[in-house]
Amino acid sequence: MSDRVGLVLAPEARIYDHGPEHPLRPDRVLLTWDLIHAYELDARANVETLAVAPADDATLELVHTPAFVDATRRAGHGERGDWARFGYGPGDNPIFDRMHEAGAIVAGASVAAANAVWSGGVDHAFNAAGGLHHAMPDRASGFCVYDDPAVAIAWLLRQGCERIAYVDVDVHHGDGVQAIFWDEPRVLTISLHQFGSWFFPGSGDLGERGGPHAPGSAINVPLPAFTGDEAWLEAFRAVVPEAVAAFRPEVLVTQLGCDTHASDPLAQLQLTTQAYREAAADLHRLAHAAAGGHWVATGGGGYQWARVVPRAWTIAFAEMCDAAIPDVIPPAWIEEAELRLGGEVPATLSEPELGPGAGDDGARAVVRTLEEMLIP
Ligand SMILES: [Zn+2]
Ligand SMILES: [Zn+2]
Repeated sequence: MSDRVGLVLAPEARIYDHGPEHPLRPDRVLLTWDLIHAYELDARANVETLAVAPADDATLELVHTPAFVDATRRAGHGERGDWARFGYGPGDNPIFDRMHEAGAIVAGASVAAANAVWSGGVDHAFNAAGGLHHAMPDRASGFCVYDDPAVAIAWLLRQGCERIAYVDVDVHHGDGVQAIFWDEPRVLTISLHQFGSWFFPGSGDLGERGGPHAPGSAINVPLPAFTGDEAWLEAFRAVVPEAVAAFRPEVLVTQLGCDTHASDPLAQLQLTTQAYREAAADLHRLAHAAAGGHWVATGGGGYQWARVVPRAWTIAFAEMCDAAIPDVIPPAWIEEAELRLGGEVPATLSEPELGPGAGDDGARAVVRTLEEMLIP
């Protein structure tokens, strides 16, 4: 008997678009839904698609200030103002048309996933459009307008959920979610990420462990550049399963950014889709072993938008569905992806091994230090 799985479909999330030169292209998510569909995962008997309503202001204001929501709405409707104060301007967070509406759709999509899992309609749910983990209570950051994973977590707390574990495997530190629940003992945040003084956002070192009312509620695994599959998986397995199980969450929320890939243009970890396959299987087992099967997953970063992101998240969604799918990708999807990219896209989900990474030894040393810190 397979678990019931929800696939959040929000085609209108395509308006979350910072413009043609920006790395966070809507095609990342659109091609993911297309590939899930090409594999017919959405037609499986245990899969249902979940509709989305944009998050209303009251829901967004569970984590964001009313002034920030107001500024986002006005700036996205062409009004003039001091929007730089809220993180908007040239660079990572340019003002774009209907920013508020776009962010509210993405946040509503993560709430829809959380709602389906919390109400018992499904066991697992996936919002590929979500995972905007850098947004702060009062400002946009790192391509992120509203912090949809934090909004979904805050919404769950509001429903009476007592403990939520958040695991973030994006190559960047999940700083927004960590900051929002820094002093909240009901939320455990764990982030594995590339770390270095020059690397965005700069936070996420070992010593960040939660606020005075929630000591130990944040765990960070700061990994050096060029960490490969094997050392990354060792780090994940040394930290995540035990910490999540000890927390006894009612819901597991995961951010599945795939900018950890060796070919990603914005970061320097050295992962392949093999690590994604193994991490997804581990998270799936963990959801059942530690969280009663309640698993809400979002997308996240990933800037090889045609070559990597759709494959990474289709692998994760197939794992959620307990579906064994062919390694060779349906040719009609390849054709469409290559047309949009104007270049070649891999023909299989799997990839050749890259072998050890130059950062592996450093990653292992970080894990040894962290393990000593985590011994009660
Ligand atoms: Zn399951
Ligand atoms: Zn990222």
